[in-house]
Amino acid sequence: MTGLIPYGRQDISEADIQAVIDVLRSDYLTQGPAVPAFEKSLAEYCGAQHAVAVNSATSALHIACLALGVEPGDLVWTTPITFVASANCALYCGAHVDFVDIDPRTYNMSVARLAEKLAQAERSGKLPKVVIPVHLCGQPCDMAAIHALGQRYGFKIIEDASHAIGGQYRGEPIGNCRYSDITVFSFHPVKIITTAEGGMAMTNDAQLAKRMQLLRSHGITRDVNEMTHAPEGSWYYQQIDLGYNYRMTDLQAALGLSQMQRLDEFVSKRHAIAKRYDQLLAGLPVTAPWQHPDGYSGLHLYVIRLKLDQTGKTHRQVFEALRAAGIGVNLHYIPVHRQPYYEGMGFKAGHCPAAEQYYAEAISLPMYPGLTEAMQDRVIESLQLATAR
Ligand SMILES: *Cc1c(COP(=O)(O)O)cnc(C)c1O
Repeated sequence: MTGLIPYGRQDISEADIQAVIDVLRSDYLTQGPAVPAFEKSLAEYCGAQHAVAVNSATSALHIACLALGVEPGDLVWTTPITFVASANCALYCGAHVDFVDIDPRTYNMSVARLAEKLAQAERSGKLPKVVIPVHLCGQPCDMAAIHALGQRYGFKIIEDASHAIGGQYRGEPIGNCRYSDITVFSFHPVKIITTAEGGMAMTNDAQLAKRMQLLRSHGITRDVNEMTHAPEGSWYYQQIDLGYNYRMTDLQAALGLSQMQRLDEFVSKRHAIAKRYDQLLAGLPVTAPWQHPDGYSGLHLYVIRLKLDQTGKTHRQVFEALRAAGIGVNLHYIPVHRQPYYEGMGFKAGHCPAAEQYYAEAISLPMYPGLTEAMQDRVIESLQLATAR
């Protein structure tokens, strides 16, 4: 009964290791063939026209905002229950951020709150340029409704699908961008597949793909058609925009490509674990995650909410008791508007009441393909003890 059970963990096979070694022995550690191969694999898997690999989802969100023209004076809206990167990307562009409160059942951005906020914003002439819904835990947002609001109010949509690769919305892969301009994935080791660090931006718009390719590599082009004048020789390239070095290496892409072969297996393992949690949690003073019938979640996270009136303990006491028992529970997330950096912009408690209530009760239980039934039993026993009156 020893050892910490983490909340998330990568799953690395011998084939993954060999794939990285093969790149190490090859001619290119970066800017070689593995990156386009990984991009092609994701584009095909998701059914999207273009995939642009970068060194993190944070970078992908940044260049997605830039490609959509986000600039100083613009407004970008997202959900408060997300990792800070979903909001920071707009600040990098000099834009202002605001938050739309969450749905009390899915914990995703509430479409009702979004519609209300848009109606108000239209009256005050402060409509957002971009809205960034986040598929929390892997569960897709109500994308058809958000897309319809985008048509009505003229905003663009970036799906932050950092939790959601391998999932589906209305029977189609998340990442096909049917209801968005760009979809972003993360390959951090706790996410569903990993490249150590890495991200990908999916789009069906060739112009957006081109712009993101330019921005990930210094704003430099070698495409004659994009240059302001004919090349001065075969060495020639032009910087035509201010970009960054956001490139993914071939080592990372080879790992990602190898992981793609087990993506569906990873997600079905997560579903088996979630189903078992659902059963084992019955009778405990907690709310298990609710799954909307429109979605097939990637199940990056399994978040329970404590029924605090039935436990006689505080949220913090339950959380600390689990940690003390070696259960590496976590909390996804502190509402972004309650971070000191955001409070410095004027955000206050009460701005998103449903999100703040969620934060007061939520705990992420361990969830990853390598979690055994014995480990899961230990999680449940510890939770029983931690919540007992
Ligand atoms: C992990 C995560 C990110 C950032 O991903 P990185 O690849 O670590 O930059 C962004 N948004 C959400 C919702 C995430 O969970």
